Amino acid sequence: MTIASNLSALHDRIARAVHRAGRNASDIALMAVSKTQPAATIIEAYEAGQRLVGENRVQEFSEKIGALASLRDAEFHMIGHLQSNKAPKAAELFHAIDSLDSAKLAERLNAAAEKLGKTLDVLIEINVPGEAAKSGIAPDSSELERILAGAPTWKHLRIRGLMTVPPFTEDPEGARSYFRQLRELRDCLAARNLPSINLDVLSMGMSHDFEVAIEEGSTCVRIGTAIFGAR
Ligand SMILES: *Cc1c(COP(=O)(O)O)cnc(C)c1O
Repeated sequence: MTIASNLSALHDRIARAVHRAGRNASDIALMAVSKTQPAATIIEAYEAGQRLVGENRVQEFSEKIGALASLRDAEFHMIGHLQSNKAPKAAELFHAIDSLDSAKLAERLNAAAEKLGKTLDVLIEINVPGEAAKSGIAPDSSELERILAGAPTWKHLRIRGLMTVPPFTEDPEGARSYFRQLRELRDCLAARNLPSINLDVLSMGMSHDFEVAIEEGSTCVRIGTAIFGAR
């Protein structure tokens, strides 16, 4: 299997899930998650038409970005846990941060983006079941309220929606309730009409469960293994 044929098979599966859910294909973005893959592999995906790319480590991506300079219209998102001391580097390297998980990180990203004269799109990462060990913030946490309240002051961040990584279950159906809860949280927050908060994006679904995520309202599926093979 080549990357091009994997991408094409994925587009077909996405189209079928979209159809089952009575949604529009144009509402769902496919992000290629290229962590651990060399720059040459990212270029191969780009040549097969892939533009949206997710990476989960600042250091790893900083080593690859030089080789990706010719991919001018590619869009690179940070999707992994980001320590606030790495905010300046992340703000410089990425177009968007999809894993915002604290108000402190938002402050740092905003300050770094301001210095760079850019505006960063961000997603708030929610840990739906609220397990202490996992990344993301709990839905009913004071940290989430701090981010929502701080948004109007962060002129160089654009909050665009929510992201989640559910606990792994062998059966993709096991993720359905987490995806549904993320959508319900989004609807709840959207109903509050909070200033400077846009909630159009729901980033959820990975290689083994993206079809369920699309049925539950995902607008961005993040796919690694099904494009590039096992890591
Ligand atoms: C690795 C990763 C993915 C992709 O996972 P696959 O199972 O390989 O599709 C998606 N989202 C995040 C946050 C990841 O770290």
